[in-house]
Amino acid sequence: MSATLLILSAPSGTGKTTLARRLVAAHPGAIFSVSYTTRAPRPGEREGVDYHFVDDARFDAMIQGGEFVEWAPVHGHRYGTPRAAILEAQRRGALVVFDIDVQGGSAIKRQYPEALRALVLPPSLAELERRLRARSTDDDTTIRRRLHAARVEVLLARAEGYEYWIVNDDLDRAYADLEAIVRAEGCRAGRADLQKILE
Ligand code: ADP
Ligand code: 5GP
Repeated sequence: MSATLLILSAPSGTGKTTLARRLVAAHPGAIFSVSYTTRAPRPGEREGVDYHFVDDARFDAMIQGGEFVEWAPVHGHRYGTPRAAILEAQRRGALVVFDIDVQGGSAIKRQYPEALRALVLPPSLAELERRLRARSTDDDTTIRRRLHAARVEVLLARAEGYEYWIVNDDLDRAYADLEAIVRAEGCRAGRADLQKILE
């Protein structure tokens, strides 16, 4: 069984982390790719769960060591995806879920063309603003910056040719869409062991 690489991107606050965590929890053996970042943890965030929080020197060393599949500056900090999660998923034929931005998702797609990219969309920018305020992790200036970035991110995902668009209006409905994508991928030609079936 080959690995399934599923990239979830969305404007910040749309709900991609909620969806990604739920997907990984529902699939025993699935891997959530924990990115590295140079930004400080937000209240409630845990080392090794939400991110690996590292300083600039460590991030530089990881770049030098070729440990990232991709890395990029986002909102003034650096974020990188470790190659380790992909290698582990390939070894086990597992599902690996990436919770990253469009530039990162597209960089992974260039190296792993079999990867699937899904863009999670808010029902509207007004609803996105409401969710960002409800999350209460960002100040007013940051929220305004994120709303501007949201428009750019969505247009970029369309230009980059993201394979799937999921509108996160109702969480359960959006999650069902995500499950449908994973399920369809499991039925892709070449996934079943035809040799064994025909012996
Ligand atoms: P992201 O990872 O895209 O930044 P989060 O998963 O942190 O977003 O979700 C942002 C906020 O929106 C959270 O408070 C989450 O509980 C809430 N949320 C997610 N999906 C929905 C939805 N369909 N309806 C209402 N609130 C939602
Ligand atoms: P936040 O600081 O809100 O958690 O994330 C800010 C942005 O960085 C989000 O758009 C998120 O998707 C993106 N991001 C998180 N991890 C990575 C990564 O490993 N690589 C890239 N390129 N972007 C990432």
